[in-house]
Formats: sequence, C-alpha cells, structure tokens
Amino acid sequence: MRQRYKPWADDFLHNHQNLIIPNPGKQRGKWQKLFSENQPIHLEIGTGKGQFIVGMAKQHPDINFIGIEVAKSIVVTAGEKALEAGLDNLLLIHVDASHLLEYFAPGEISAIYLNFSDPWPKNRHEKRRLTFSAFLKQYEEVLIPKGEIIFKTDNRGLFEYSLCSFSAYGMLLEEVNLDLHVIEDPLNIMTEYEEKFSAKGQPIYRSRTSFKN
Ligand code: SAM
Repeated sequence: MRQRYKPWADDFLHNHQNLIIPNPGKQRGKWQKLFSENQPIHLEIGTGKGQFIVGMAKQHPDINFIGIEVAKSIVVTAGEKALEAGLDNLLLIHVDASHLLEYFAPGEISAIYLNFSDPWPKNRHEKRRLTFSAFLKQYEEVLIPKGEIIFKTDNRGLFEYSLCSFSAYGMLLEEVNLDLHVIEDPLNIMTEYEEKFSAKGQPIYRSRTSFKN
C-alpha cells in the first residue's frame, strides 16, 4: 500500500491515544479492560486504511476489534475512519506483527483476519509472508483453542502457498473459496484492496482455517 508522508501523523497519534494505543506491550493480557464491553477480541493484521475493520466493528457490536498496522501514515488514515464511525469496540495499534507475542497474552484473541497481505513473491522473502510457519506459531499462541484465521487475497500464488503452510502446520481447513464474489454475500465486508481488485474482475480467494487445539 502506497505511503504518503503525513506531517500531521505524529499529532494525530498524540491526540488519539485512546484509539491508537501507544506502548501496546503494556496492555498484554489486559486488552479487554480497554473496551466498554467484555466480549471476544478479533484481530486484523495489516489493517491498511481501515475499511474492513471499521465495517466489521459496525456489523458486529458484540465483538471487540483490534487492528494492527505497521505504517504510521496508513494507521492514521484508519484512525480517521474509526473516529468518524465513533465505535467503542475498535482499537488500533501501530506496530509490526512480527512481535505479536510482546503485545498479546496466550488465548487473548478469538480470531485473526489477514486481508490482502503483502505477497513477498521471492523465495528468499518467504519468512516475511504473514502465513509463514513462524507467524502461524505466534497466532496459535495468542488465539483461544481452536481459534480461526480468516485469510483473503487476490494473489493466487500467496493463496496456494498459504494453504500449504496452514496444512503443513496441521491446521484444519474449514473453508476454501476460489471466487468469493461469484455469489453476493451481504455479510462480506470488502477491504480497500478487495474493492480495487474485484472491480478489475480478478477473483478473490478466501480461506478459513483453525488450529487443532
Ligand atoms: N488489508 C488492507 C486491504 O486489504 O486493503 C491493506 C492491504 S496492504 C497490501 C498490506 C498492509 O499490511 C499494508 O498497509 C502494510 O503496511 C501492512 N503490513 C505488512 N506487514 C505488516 C506487519 N508485519 N505488521 C503490521 N502490518 C503489516
């Protein structure tokens, strides 16, 4: 996702610390306390400009959502959307998901969404893919037993790689959809990338997988 320099980003982060949580490591094991309702927490990794997570938080007031976005200039755009929506079941954090265990305690999260993750097509960059085994290990740790990963992408190579990675890890494939938009699903919340690629006629792939324990 293209990043533009936003001179106001630091001010925005400073002024909205109840929404984009600073020092998220301090909340490890205590995220539930930051929400007004005690209910399952779902995580989106690589939230981008926030269309999906804001839409999900509106659609599911009985779930608490946390979006993780590593790019400062992008997380503030998600922050603007979240502010406008005025939701009390949505928080954001501006960190790299490679260090997920520093921010979340075992079993603190009920589901993880990976939407249009960067494909990193070169073999030597395999470890950066968000569905690489080392990431799956972290997800398994922070998720509740049998917790789910819901993954959407337009990238067939990344999708095939990820299905193999989930399977090699011993995860259960609950759903594999090779063309998500063939039938209109009123509950599907589109991400910014999903809108862009599906408008070009590209199929959108989705999988739903769960850990065995
Ligand atoms: N999910 C959005 C969508 O579907 O429109 C954005 C997709 S964009 C291709 C991938 C996003 O993931 C970028 O905003 C990028 O900064 C973020 N990202 C990539 N690696 C990340 C990581 N390790 N931790 C947190 N965010 C990450």
